[in-house]
Amino acid sequence: MKELPHPIIGGSFSSPVMPSTNWPMDVALTQTPIAKSLTQVKKIANTVESLTELTAAISVCRACPRLVSWRTDVAITKRKSFEDQPYWGRPATGFGAANPALLVVGLAPAANGANRTGRIFTGDRSGDWLYRAMHKAGFANQPTSEHAGDGLELINARVLAAVRCAPPGNKPTPTERDICSHWFAAELKFLPNVQVIIALGGFAWDQTISMLTQLGYLGPKVKFGHGASIEFTNPDGSVLLLGSYHVSQQNTFTGRLTEAMLDDIFNQAKVCINSG
Ligand code: SF4
Repeated sequence: MKELPHPIIGGSFSSPVMPSTNWPMDVALTQTPIAKSLTQVKKIANTVESLTELTAAISVCRACPRLVSWRTDVAITKRKSFEDQPYWGRPATGFGAANPALLVVGLAPAANGANRTGRIFTGDRSGDWLYRAMHKAGFANQPTSEHAGDGLELINARVLAAVRCAPPGNKPTPTERDICSHWFAAELKFLPNVQVIIALGGFAWDQTISMLTQLGYLGPKVKFGHGASIEFTNPDGSVLLLGSYHVSQQNTFTGRLTEAMLDDIFNQAKVCINSG
């Protein structure tokens, strides 16, 4: 398997990247259990004992044959402009603080974005929009997100995708969504201090509502829209869900989502967290 240098840290990596090869932020070990079916996803998601173990297990998951095939094919074929780079080619895990107050939920990694760089919303225009807004609101140490290993750190915030593998046409099937939801639910259990969740787009909105409901939260039924919100409560506290149009190029190029609109959502999250 041909190895290529990482564009920031150097070193040589295969595409897809193998665990335990010093790729930035890769916490998987050669002995990390690999889920190859829904049953195995459920079993591992229910038995991991830490967020790090969960992150490692997600990063080597192979439970959806169509997505494993797609992410691997893209990683091997590569877009021409990135042909001199290694491609991560594995699930994009949650990124950011281990005990955050803010959680941002997207749809799925981009084939030549996170599937290449190994970090969610990194290496494409969507990430430029998201992390610029997070930086302006004080949730990120820098406004740019070029590649895993570029020094980006999230402050009191974490970002994840509802489906962790890049899907063809950005469209996971309902079965793929449901299998991956077990990773999402497990990750939420390791994040007990989340006060605000920003859902980027209707897919993330619906999935987040489904996850919170499974965890025993109650809230009114509200249709997704930019600026929509739901206050969820359970006996232990509350979580505010905020909706934002997705930071996809489809929305940002057309002006459906403007910088001011996105800033407004992150400012709402900041005010809520600071007052809580
Ligand atoms: Fe595993 Fe989720 Fe990727 Fe399916 S989409 S292979 S469940 S990480």
